[in-house]
Amino acid sequence: MANQRTTASNPLWHPFADMGAVDGDRLVLTRGSGSYVWDVDGTRYLDATAALWYANLGHGREEIATAVAGQLRELDAYGIFGYYANEPALDLAGRLAALAPAPEYKVFLGSGGGDAIDTAVKVVRAHFAQRGRPERVHVIGRTQAYHGTHGFGTAVGGIPANGTGFGPLPGDVSHVPHDSADALDAEIRRVGPDRVAAFFCEPVIGAGGVLPPPDGYVEAVAETCRAHGVLFVADCVIAGFGRLGTWLGIDRWDVRPDLVTLAKGITGGAVPLGALLVAPQVAEPFFTGEPGAPVLRHGPTYAGHPAACAAALAALDLYEREGLVPRGRELEKPLADALSGLADHPLVADVRAGLGFLAGVDLAPDVLADDPAAPARWQRACRDEGVLVRPLGRGIAVSPPLVAGEPELDLLASALPRALDRLAAAR
Ligand code: PMP
Repeated sequence: MANQRTTASNPLWHPFADMGAVDGDRLVLTRGSGSYVWDVDGTRYLDATAALWYANLGHGREEIATAVAGQLRELDAYGIFGYYANEPALDLAGRLAALAPAPEYKVFLGSGGGDAIDTAVKVVRAHFAQRGRPERVHVIGRTQAYHGTHGFGTAVGGIPANGTGFGPLPGDVSHVPHDSADALDAEIRRVGPDRVAAFFCEPVIGAGGVLPPPDGYVEAVAETCRAHGVLFVADCVIAGFGRLGTWLGIDRWDVRPDLVTLAKGITGGAVPLGALLVAPQVAEPFFTGEPGAPVLRHGPTYAGHPAACAAALAALDLYEREGLVPRGRELEKPLADALSGLADHPLVADVRAGLGFLAGVDLAPDVLADDPAAPARWQRACRDEGVLVRPLGRGIAVSPPLVAGEPELDLLASALPRALDRLAAAR
């Protein structure tokens, strides 16, 4: 049975996967605990990516299982459309608002990061429409940015391959080089500040290659947005919940984003949930309390799902109790040290580590020219070494759970180069 699941053709359509290659090479996972997961055959792997950058608390957290099970028994499900609410959703909104860049931020809940992003685009456009500026719809993203796979997120993202083949995406979107604050200012002027609604920015670009911002970049783009009245949206879906050593991720810098998207680590990944924090002045047209005030006609079915909110509340307690948020910062140098040996490997072009508990390692241009699938082959070789990593365009990403420690970093330090040696031997 297990064998059939791993090797035979199966109707399950895997996202971002070459299905021809998947059939026969599926890695079917059955169990997780701490920084490790096990497959159907009982083989153990270091989860060096915290699944899809979200198992920040480590796998198998009993406290989350207990909270979710308890909530399912109490009130399993109900929406928060209209005047409905539930206690976990109200409590979570309060807890998240307390993490916001300033007091009085509003909290919109959804099912994941892509939800939060598409909500953000609609909220900024709705905000300007309500302020009598309906022409202010243009959104600027960055090259290499990843903002999920919903409509707006696909358009605002800056990884070209993710946006092609789908016909026209939502318009009034443009992109600027991810490392140039001057380019943002120039683009706002080109489009016309009166037409630009928002700028979307991952504090550290994640899926687009683990690209930390240049020094001063975050402060400069925040100031450019402020100067032009453009709303600054910080996409902290990866950056939040300790990945950069702070609660939101963007709060490593002294800036005040107008909107903040959150997901992934918000529940430790155990249950899907996303959130959007909205500055009071942006949400204000919808909160006047006056008769006939506008309604934001938007929201996914599972917004404020009580079991998901219960998972997030339990996760927030764990982050707090175990000091895991600052740990993301404490671990950044040990991770950089663990990967430093890779920099000398002949197949490696670049190691980016040292800002937060995540890293990107690029293969050398000639390796990629010979075999564009080399990152996926390196990923596969790491799997043979007992380590799960994520292939990106030019290499791999590493972002272990925040509960990882010395043994896990030692394993990374030895397994990643060994896997590269396998690749070199096969060239
Ligand atoms: N924004 C960022 C920065 C992300 O990394 C992701 C997911 N990798 C998303 C948005 C989309 O989140 P989801 O996949 O939960 O829709």
